[in-house]
Amino acid sequence: MTGIYFHIPFCAKKCPYCDFYSVSYRKETVSRYVGAILRNIAFYEITDTVDTLYFGGGTPSLLTPAQIGEILDACAKAYKLAENAEITLEFNPTGKRDDYLKAVRAAGVNRLSIGTQSFSDTQLRLLGRTHTAEDNRHAVYAAQAAGFTNLSCDLMLATPDQSEDVLSETLDALTALPITHVSAYMLQIEEGTPLSRDGALLSRCPDEDATVDRYLQAVRTLEAAGFLQYEVSSFAKPGNESRHNLKYWHGEPYLGIGAGAHSCFSGEPPLAGASQCRFAAKVGGERFCVPKDIEAFITAEHQPVEILDEHPLDREERLMLALRLTEGVPEVELSAKARRRIPALLQAGYLRRAGKRIALTPEGFAVSNAVIAELIEA
Ligand code: SF4
Repeated sequence: MTGIYFHIPFCAKKCPYCDFYSVSYRKETVSRYVGAILRNIAFYEITDTVDTLYFGGGTPSLLTPAQIGEILDACAKAYKLAENAEITLEFNPTGKRDDYLKAVRAAGVNRLSIGTQSFSDTQLRLLGRTHTAEDNRHAVYAAQAAGFTNLSCDLMLATPDQSEDVLSETLDALTALPITHVSAYMLQIEEGTPLSRDGALLSRCPDEDATVDRYLQAVRTLEAAGFLQYEVSSFAKPGNESRHNLKYWHGEPYLGIGAGAHSCFSGEPPLAGASQCRFAAKVGGERFCVPKDIEAFITAEHQPVEILDEHPLDREERLMLALRLTEGVPEVELSAKARRRIPALLQAGYLRRAGKRIALTPEGFAVSNAVIAELIEA
């Protein structure tokens, strides 16, 4: 089954650490942008059933409920939508938007990913966020009152001054909420962002060892509260894993619509069941992206694309993606050389065996790039 990602590259204010593609919100531009999304929905043919839709950004909760409803109606008209399709909206918790949440729920959104990041006001201010811990709580309870039962919160790790106690305060607040999913990301210092030039603030970020400690602290606290880790950065109460994000790691097909959006699918059989789509025929390549140019997206009859790869998701890439998951990979899929490295990695506590499968442990996930590279490059 296929997923569709809508990139909504508008933000009310740029966060100092962020290098995602987004520009300042302007009502008239957003309205033209939504018109272009609708044209593109009509343009792509997807023979497969579509079972996930995801509004990401930027700040997709800057779209009005009517605009979101129009996009969802267009999808229902153009594609074979699964009855239980997962429809996610990333929501910025700034301000009290109870009526907004009711309206987007009524429009068909059934999963909310709330950009809470931290439940310490000092941390939120350091990160340049415009919401408070109280706004975070309000957003979760307002979403619950609006009828959302599938709620995810973002948690940022390795931020300036994030001691064990500071993170504990956030984890306690987070795990007390009626949510089903947590996405825990390390703060990345991206070149060119205001944060990357702020030496004083950078010097207050945890060092490598402390970063690993914070990550393991988050994993253990979340697991103790019933949020089971299923991917490097993803934790869910059983049955509430993000079906859309799992597509990325299972190598299942997804179509991205919007300036900066990526798409990928493959004719090769994936490790965990996926099917082919006809949108290949329209672009001539299997992994492609849309240039980060809002005007070009708005004015083109259908979105311009850059082909990134004619035949993506080879065996090596599939293994790399699958190793991000706690379900791991069948040991026999690894090369003979990689299999010879397994005993040392088991001994070091970075890998574990689950029947005939090999998977990373939380300690392995904390340094996942190095462990995965060691297995793949072998
Ligand atoms: S972190 Fe989110 S809200 Fe902040 S600038 Fe980036 S996309 Fe926008």
